Amino acid sequence: MTAAPPTDGVLVDRYGRVARDLRVSLTDKCNLRCTYCMPAEGLPWLAGPQLLTDDEIVRLVRLAVRHLGVTEVRFTGGEPLIRPGLVGIVAAVAALEPRPRISLTTNGLGLDRLAPALRAAGLDRVNVSLDTLDAARFARLTRRDRLADVLAGLAGAVAAGLSPVKINTVLMRGVNDDEAPALLRFALAHGYELRFIEQMPLDAQHGWDRSTMVTAAEILAALRTGFDLSPDPARRGAAPAETWLVDGGPALVGVIGSVTRPFCGDCDRTRLTADGQVRACLFATEESDLRGALRAGADDEELARRWRTAMWGKRAGHGIDDPAFLQPARPMSAIGG
Ligand code: SF4
Repeated sequence: MTAAPPTDGVLVDRYGRVARDLRVSLTDKCNLRCTYCMPAEGLPWLAGPQLLTDDEIVRLVRLAVRHLGVTEVRFTGGEPLIRPGLVGIVAAVAALEPRPRISLTTNGLGLDRLAPALRAAGLDRVNVSLDTLDAARFARLTRRDRLADVLAGLAGAVAAGLSPVKINTVLMRGVNDDEAPALLRFALAHGYELRFIEQMPLDAQHGWDRSTMVTAAEILAALRTGFDLSPDPARRGAAPAETWLVDGGPALVGVIGSVTRPFCGDCDRTRLTADGQVRACLFATEESDLRGALRAGADDEELARRWRTAMWGKRAGHGIDDPAFLQPARPMSAIGG
């Protein structure tokens, strides 16, 4: 364990983990109402002045890429596609030297329309959330009848040349856990890379219940009823997903066992919220304000010092199994994946 936050260089924490992967939430708003994320009526959204402007976002990403060792930038939300300045933000980040790899996590609504412009702006790859292939079940899960639009978004991403195109799926017991093999068959047929994610205690209603979470072991068992899975020889590194070769490969399937198979020891993520707060961890209960300092005229050195100090204090892990575990006040929809 190192003694004090570094005064220059990369974003290192007291356990020696270096954050290279910056997740930027561009908005807390969303055009779906997934039952495991937020109530039907939505949430009290962040007010306009609280949100970082496009220029402020680009300035902070530039700082992270040029002075803090960030090499990956992922745009998230809420739903990032509803941010009016998204294409311009992607283009500005793609123009940075050194150029980071740029990705996006989206629910797919409108992706068919926006994918060509995002690709031209410099977006490299995309993850689309999809929890079912059944239109009626989709409408129940998201409270919107928009499955066809998500499927069009996936196809549009491939057509625009984004690669890889990944699918993020959350399985819930008795809701959609019967669809694991079908979702994998669908992904294989279309060349999408499928990742199953264990449901995490990050919902706005604080209703997460471990007993309804489908574990990584259960997901693998369900997939093995239809496929032969063998360990992926490729090095995992800091990647959240454990990956398996499907029927000997080269197709892969991934499982992100955040709860039952945590990967915090290799975590390389740092997060910036839409209202300019640094979160050292998805499950952090503290945040560090960059927006206030930025608007008060802080220079890049001061912003970098604050960011390094915020990451230095990162906890060893999410602590979900600790009896003292506290779910963060900020919901997933305002943190981003
Ligand atoms: S829970 Fe926190 S420390 Fe663990 S992998 Fe996720 S962001 Fe990293």
